[in-house]
Amino acid sequence: MVSEHAQDLVYSRANSNPDDFWGMHAKNVHWHKTPEKIIEKSKKTLKGGVSHDHWTWFPGGEISTTFNCVDRHVRDGKGSNIAIYWDSPVTGAKEQFTYNQLLQEVETLAGVLREEGVKQGDVVLIYMPMISAAIFAMLAIARLGAIHAVVFGGFAPAALAQRIEASRPKAIMTASCGIEGSKGPSGYKKMIEEAVERSTFKPYKTIIWQRDELRWDPVLKENGQRNWQRLVKSARNRGLKADAVSVKSEDGLYIIYTSGTTGLPKGVVRTAGGHAVGLNFSIKHLFGVHGPGDVMFTASDIGWVVGHSYIVYAPLLIGAATVLFEGKPVGTPDASTFWRIVEEYKVTTMFTAPTALRAIRREDGENTFFEKTYGARGGLKSLRALFLAGERSEPSIVEMYQRLLKRHCADGALVVDNWWSSESGSPISGVALSATAGEDFATQQRARPLPIKPGSAGKAMPGFDVQVVDDEGHPVERGQMGNMVMSIPLAPTAFTTLWGDEDRFYKSYLKRFHGRWVDTGDAGMIDKDGYSKPVSIMSRSDDILNVAAHRFSTGAMEQAITSHPNVAEAAVVGIPDQLKGHLPFAFITLSTHQHPDAAVPDEKVSKEVQKLVRDQIGAIASLGGMIQGKGMIPKTRSGKTLRRVLRELIENATHGQLDKEVAVPSTIEDKEAVEVARAKVKEYFRLKGKDLHKPAEARARAKL
Ligand code: AMP
Repeated sequence: MVSEHAQDLVYSRANSNPDDFWGMHAKNVHWHKTPEKIIEKSKKTLKGGVSHDHWTWFPGGEISTTFNCVDRHVRDGKGSNIAIYWDSPVTGAKEQFTYNQLLQEVETLAGVLREEGVKQGDVVLIYMPMISAAIFAMLAIARLGAIHAVVFGGFAPAALAQRIEASRPKAIMTASCGIEGSKGPSGYKKMIEEAVERSTFKPYKTIIWQRDELRWDPVLKENGQRNWQRLVKSARNRGLKADAVSVKSEDGLYIIYTSGTTGLPKGVVRTAGGHAVGLNFSIKHLFGVHGPGDVMFTASDIGWVVGHSYIVYAPLLIGAATVLFEGKPVGTPDASTFWRIVEEYKVTTMFTAPTALRAIRREDGENTFFEKTYGARGGLKSLRALFLAGERSEPSIVEMYQRLLKRHCADGALVVDNWWSSESGSPISGVALSATAGEDFATQQRARPLPIKPGSAGKAMPGFDVQVVDDEGHPVERGQMGNMVMSIPLAPTAFTTLWGDEDRFYKSYLKRFHGRWVDTGDAGMIDKDGYSKPVSIMSRSDDILNVAAHRFSTGAMEQAITSHPNVAEAAVVGIPDQLKGHLPFAFITLSTHQHPDAAVPDEKVSKEVQKLVRDQIGAIASLGGMIQGKGMIPKTRSGKTLRRVLRELIENATHGQLDKEVAVPSTIEDKEAVEVARAKVKEYFRLKGKDLHKPAEARARAKL
């Protein structure tokens, strides 16, 4: 009999006996008051009379997340360990903080906030660049038992106003400017003032961290504006500090607004108890990060859930060091930055989005920096794993980095795709690096991670019962595409409601499957061969193309296209077609040093790409056209491809409306990309004229 792998054993133990499992892991954090129960199930009834399942993790317990992230380590004699390495290539500055220093910063800032009127249960909005003060702010707010809502610094005033309106923050903590890549400082004063102006709710205070690169001038006291550094200085002189306040397990630690690729942002609430226990478990089990001596570098932003969990809370919960990076994968100053950071801080575990690796591949197609500079001199030996999430990782990028890690990083180093969302708070699926963390039955053999399958995001994580169902909610066979859903209750890190909107929680996540399942909004499959619960997240449900009544995932097509050695990136959208409803249409960026100017790829590339799609997906999915260009694939700031924008450009073009405005979400990373894409679409349509679909249509007709 083949013995089950430790990851499977841990998974089934968690799901068959959650009380024992999570009860054991709850002991790894400090409780001000021990929970009375591990999980409690109940019902919630909405205004219209609909009632649905609700659950509470660790009821009766009281906890302080900040105490667990900071004070606990100092109390345990680990105060001189490094907590934060701040590295900012955009300003040329670096800083580091031990846990002792972090405690001083956080208790003083919490004292300031209390003096400024912040109390337990209040919301404080954070709109900050990637500087250490942003982490102090999160921890200081949590120290008072207040709730933070971090909004990505750089969001336009309209988007910020929406979030102020929705979260009704007592105060805003911000900075005088952010610095985006090599673009130089951009002032936050105008953004904040305009957002507050637009919102009907007015925060009482705005606390401003002054940066030398661009100051907020003048600080208007009558508008509730305060100079952060001055307040802290005065508090220090007076010895003002605040102790950690504990909150109920089910109280909110923070609100995070989902990235909003679809609809209005939703305020996901993270509860204090479940979050601490679940994250403390996940960083050990999945990430293999255990505490002092480990250095985690999560190249994301604190505005996103990946940043909340794996820049800030998880590494600090277990007393490891975290790298806070203010820069970009390329251009600050070049594509070597990530590898420089790994070498300089002896990073053991890295986490980023595949889009960052694609950007590096575009700039440094030969991986010269990784191999010839840092790898060759042994600078990357500390790295044990490269975690990827936020969007689908195409196998070509996973395989490429897997080869690089094998040659230049720690023995057995792995690239691990993991799937999750703001709602889940920690990965829903992945391959656990330390499968036996905290368990007692492990043998070395079983503890070796499960094999990685490029293109798959691993197996479901403890606490998440993932299923694939059809539109009626019936489970589909293994290997079939469907809706990815989860059964109730979700794992402890996950949400249980939306901020102040139980109705929307029900409508957005439960109603579709009549309260039986939580809808993840993702489509995908669980494959057949030996993995009990592997999930391959292929696409968001709204990125499914319907071609002649066959459903195709745009992600699967992009996967086929990017397996071409010269294609760095691809985005596939549907183009209207009289015969088939839609045909797939590809936007591609080549990995050549000198990108060709023409919007239409040369015949060789066209044929090769078309063949890959036909071979890997099927002739029926043949592309209805292809545009090549650099810097034309728009993305959200969290790295998700905005296919909708490209689709609108293409649809408008087919109706001759080449200049028609397209709706661009405020989350877009670079608006310029939309205009580059528009210019390419124009050129393409000019060249191809009205005969654009002739070949594809002719082929399809021949088959009917
Ligand atoms: P957000 O809430 O902004 O973090 O976005 C969550 C969404 O990102 C998920 O619902 C997926 O659509 C997508 N996503 C995250 N991780 C992955 C992954 N590893 N593979 C595919 N899609 C992913």
